[in-house]
Amino acid sequence: VLFLDLDDFKKVNDSLGHEVGDKLLIEASKRLSYAIRKEDTVGRLGGDEFIVILHHIIDEANAMDIVTHLLHIFTEPFHIDNRELILTLSIGIAICPENGKNASDLLRNADTAMYQAKANGRNTYSFFTDEMNVIMLRRFEIEEQMHLALERNEFTLYFQPKIDLKNRKVMGAEALLRWVNPKLGVLEPDEFIPIAEQTGLIVPIGEFAINKALEVLNKWQLRYATTFTMAINLSPRQFRHKSFLDTLKHNISTLELDPKLIEFEITEGVLMMGKSYIDEALNELREIGVKLSMDDFGTGYSSLSYLRHYAFDVIKIDQTFVKGLPHNKADCDLVKATIAMANSLGLSVVAEGIETLQQLTALEKFSCDFAQGFYFSEPLSEYDLLAFDKF
Ligand code: C2E
Ligand code: MG
Ligand code: MG
Repeated sequence: VLFLDLDDFKKVNDSLGHEVGDKLLIEASKRLSYAIRKEDTVGRLGGDEFIVILHHIIDEANAMDIVTHLLHIFTEPFHIDNRELILTLSIGIAICPENGKNASDLLRNADTAMYQAKANGRNTYSFFTDEMNVIMLRRFEIEEQMHLALERNEFTLYFQPKIDLKNRKVMGAEALLRWVNPKLGVLEPDEFIPIAEQTGLIVPIGEFAINKALEVLNKWQLRYATTFTMAINLSPRQFRHKSFLDTLKHNISTLELDPKLIEFEITEGVLMMGKSYIDEALNELREIGVKLSMDDFGTGYSSLSYLRHYAFDVIKIDQTFVKGLPHNKADCDLVKATIAMANSLGLSVVAEGIETLQQLTALEKFSCDFAQGFYFSEPLSEYDLLAFDKF
């Protein structure tokens, strides 16, 4: 059983209209029908999803030939209303009886394999494997547990100190989520944030993070220095619900915080979506007076036009570049160039993931402004942050 999903079909509908989308679907189905053998079946499941049932498949290589052929015939552009459109496919494959003996198991497993093909970069195929099942099951468990996790107070924030390289003193912290669940143990944000984004639960979880981070910032400033800053990560999905802006404004006024000392870290993924509600939210953040930081700089498309178009204050150099310092020449050159570029644009630079003295020395030599990493401190609990007085 092949589970086919057209890549980015939604974009066609959104940008060219449903009429063009419909015509494209018809052309795509024609191409599929011509491509398969007489004894095989093709059908549309709904939307941009198609199912192909292949008979007498002897082994994986056999299925692979057919699937490669399908991907190949889609490399030719479609001609619709005098337009040339390119459409690619992601295909998941489940084989009977190894991957299921009845229709619903085969369909579900082919669907799972299709998701893997998407994750592998689209325009490709993936065979179902038992490990995929393990991954899917874990995903379901995380999703199931996450629904009540906020109510049960299972989320906490940790804080990683940020160091000013002019005097090697603490100047602020980044708030990082942790989730401790009785059934699943300690979960890292890299695993649960993408799921929270897909389910929409990132909205209440993100608001929890903002509330808690600002509460701790207030305590921290009162105890040590009123100039300490707090950086909070924002996910793309949070922009769609502007309620986080109300939470933010409410906290700033009740805690009497200086908005200049609050920083929101976003990744390019947010900007790449190119949605108008994102521009609006970013403008509102500007008006509130908080700072904007571009996280993981250098890892995505790093389009420089984002730096020109949006009013960022800070660039965070991703830890993958810091890792190679000072021995890898390419990493040194890239970090130096990023710092020079940031300086001339009037942005400050934070280097992430500093683990060794050699990395620190190199960054100081390149005149990096701020640094963060295990060399100084791992992320700390609220209690440990408030007691942190090294440096
Ligand atoms: P990030 O914002 O780039 O955060 C830095 C990550 O690097 C953190 O991982 C931190 O623990 C880790 N790190 C810090 N210093 C070092 C070091 O010296 N060496 C190494 N190897 N790693 C270091 P963490 O806490 O697992 O967070 C992962 C990502 O999850 C974050 O990347 C951020 O994108 C996201 N995240 C965390 N908290 C939140 C949140 O409240 N909201 C949202 N939307 N995303 C969050
Ligand atoms: Mg961050
Ligand atoms: Mg980062």
